[in-house]
Amino acid sequence: MERSYYVATANPFARASKLEGEAQADVVVIGGGYTGLHAALNAAERGYSVILLEAGRIGWGASGRNGGQAIPGWRKSATELMSRFGRERAKFLFELALDARSLTMERIAKHGIACDLHVNGHLTLAAKPSDLSWMNAEMETLASVMDYPHARVLSASETKAKVASVDFHGGFLDECGGQLHPLNFALGLTDAARASGVVLHEDSRVVRIESTEGVVAHTQSGVVQARFGVLACDALLEGLEPRIAGRIMPVANYLVATEPVPDPQTLIADHLAVSDSRFVVNYFRMTEDGRLLFGGGERYSPHPPGNIEAFVRGHMASIFPQLRDARIDYAWGGLVSISMTRLPHIGRMGDLFFAHGYSGLGVLLPALMGKVLVEAMAGTAERFDVLAGIAPPEFPGGAALRSPLYVLGMLWYALRDRL
Ligand SMILES: Cc1cc2nc3c(=O)[nH]c(=O)nc-3n(C[C@H](O)[C@H](O)[C@H](O)COP(=O)(O)OP(=O)(O)OC[C@H]3O[C@@H](n4cnc5c(N)ncnc54)[C@H](O)[C@@H]3O)c2cc1C
Repeated sequence: MERSYYVATANPFARASKLEGEAQADVVVIGGGYTGLHAALNAAERGYSVILLEAGRIGWGASGRNGGQAIPGWRKSATELMSRFGRERAKFLFELALDARSLTMERIAKHGIACDLHVNGHLTLAAKPSDLSWMNAEMETLASVMDYPHARVLSASETKAKVASVDFHGGFLDECGGQLHPLNFALGLTDAARASGVVLHEDSRVVRIESTEGVVAHTQSGVVQARFGVLACDALLEGLEPRIAGRIMPVANYLVATEPVPDPQTLIADHLAVSDSRFVVNYFRMTEDGRLLFGGGERYSPHPPGNIEAFVRGHMASIFPQLRDARIDYAWGGLVSISMTRLPHIGRMGDLFFAHGYSGLGVLLPALMGKVLVEAMAGTAERFDVLAGIAPPEFPGGAALRSPLYVLGMLWYALRDRL
């Protein structure tokens, strides 16, 4: 994290104190990323007293490290949602995802969060000729079923005019996508939470939770008793709550930011957020100061590569050969939590609510989850029930064996990408 572009360009931020001794609140939130911050904000706005406990520093998880691509929808396409859930439920789910986008934009506007937001679109590049057929089908489903006329398929030459990369077969442009500075977005949400009365504690790792009646969260130096709890640890949940740990799997992903490039607008036009259609996805965009920010390659080992820069450079050079020798000024990584179905896992265990497993699409969706969890606490569970109803199954082998089995599967798909 220390070598992250986002830390180097973070807005000033006051640290929060450690939890010491006993405290009480209506709601205790565990985890200071987007999910925890949105939940805390929503709860405070409803009049609950809220304490948020963060193990390290706020925004130090995926929320302060990610690619900053604000991609509307779910990790599953609208067409896949239709075949899995049927037309009506798929439409409801798609509308919920659009709500997530609107709620995020409203937060940024309402709290005046300075996070380099650009909403000029998200472009998926077609790595294989056959991608164009699902892209066309998706455009059709979005327009005719989801009443969403904002996506279109681009030809290879239209795509090339937007991204000066090696040749792709075309692209899928969602005009409502965008990009932002993820850490500054998290810090802005934190300031807003503070202003709404949320009490924040950093360096306060929860080591044990009791959730038989109400929720009691213990750290090494203190304890919070609350009526409700929100568990928002995502890929960093580890052994804290074994009942749900087997539904998600942490996968390491790495990013770099190059030196500022001459004429950034000719590399990627209009501050588009871009990714490709590979199973092990590459994603990239231009920063405010004209650097290429590139994420690519996943690792299923808990240990980072010896040299993150060299690991990501190979992926970057395969798409932008002209940057093969560009200086890399920043290199960092983080853990993405994925689920078997690539849909998030949201639910409750008594008074303890949780949402995690966004499977790489967690910049916009947490705004919805934070709201829906608090709605359910307050007794309105309609949207919560729909989301809890799409819960992914456990990984085969549960938390203990999911990793080796999953690695085998992923290596197979990664090999297919290469072939
Ligand atoms: C490298 C990378 C690139 C990504 N790129 C994109 C992208 O471009 N677009 C997109 O939509 N999504 C992307 N994602 C996914 C997105 O960042 C996540 O889905 C999202 O940030 C999850 O937010 P969260 O609040 O649930 O979890 P996190 O941000 O991980 O927050 C969890 C917090 O809980 C804290 N915590 C853990 N255990 C405890 C404990 N015991 N006690 C107290 N606190 C605890 C952690 O310290 C952490 O701060 C990316 C993720 C990564 C890692």
